Amino acid sequence: MPLVPMKIVLDEAERGGYGVGAFNVNNMEQIQAIMRAASEVRSPVIIQASRGALRYTNMVYLRHLMHAAVEDNRDIKIVMHLDHGNDLDIVKQAIDLGFTSVMIDGSLEPDGKTPRSFESNVEMTRKAVEIAHPYGVTVEGELGTLGGIEEHVQASRVILTNPEEAVEFVKATGVDALAVAIGTSHGAYKFKQTPMLALDRVEKIHRLVPHVRLVMHGSSSVPQELIAEINRYGGSMPNAMGVPVEQIQDGIRRGIRKINVDTDTRLAATATIRRIFHEEPAVFDPREYLGPARDAIYRVVKARMEAFGSAGHNDDYAPTTLEEARRLYK
Ligand SMILES: [Zn+2]
Repeated sequence: MPLVPMKIVLDEAERGGYGVGAFNVNNMEQIQAIMRAASEVRSPVIIQASRGALRYTNMVYLRHLMHAAVEDNRDIKIVMHLDHGNDLDIVKQAIDLGFTSVMIDGSLEPDGKTPRSFESNVEMTRKAVEIAHPYGVTVEGELGTLGGIEEHVQASRVILTNPEEAVEFVKATGVDALAVAIGTSHGAYKFKQTPMLALDRVEKIHRLVPHVRLVMHGSSSVPQELIAEINRYGGSMPNAMGVPVEQIQDGIRRGIRKINVDTDTRLAATATIRRIFHEEPAVFDPREYLGPARDAIYRVVKARMEAFGSAGHNDDYAPTTLEEARRLYK
């Protein structure tokens, strides 16, 4: 089946009460690992690319890798999503490339640091919706700011999403999905101690805008066994910490439907490559470390699909095309 719009996948997740992982990609091994996991546990999947990924892959390569994923997995529902688009040009570009979903992050100014005014965020997000919906492409907006670093996204201060503002934002923009700031942050160093997320806000926002799908960013779990492996084999990642999977599951129970995961798959790859370089210093064929790194990514993705509850739900519903979604918006 062709790529499906994200709205369809997240609306189904809402009906089923589960979350869908959105995994960042930059290369072939990551895409293959994610697709192997999705196909094995029968889970719909969101593959996402940031601006950094588009730059890294020169776009053309990423587009073809994404089509390879579709060709090789005709029976899996795959969404191709732009992560943290920061202006309308990149949104248009992603739609041209065949993405079925885009995020417009109007929470920060173009410097990627300063929080943008509510009005200015509404204005840009509304324009993105006007561009995307006529193509049937889903739009995710963001209200509030996350901490941490992710591909040049680093707010200078953290502002949690205000539930009343969320209602106004959704009404003024027409977004399908909304990234909420509840105290998570991007990267591998999210917290100094066990995090306290503002999950009550998720519940409240979900109740106030039940037709909009809520998204959790900065939600890698930073598994301590991977950090230990990295540090044991010459890495240096002291005090790395993420969001425990149980807290994400609590978020899903309260209405989170899309969960972004990037750091965990990076950690899995790095831990594996470091171990192989240490244990087998004679290895020089990239396949001998990239292959096992791909297996490690697959294991993390599979575990997340099971933990988020999306495993087993791929075949619950018929696929919808962009054309059908386009008619839906009319
Ligand atoms: Zn993010």
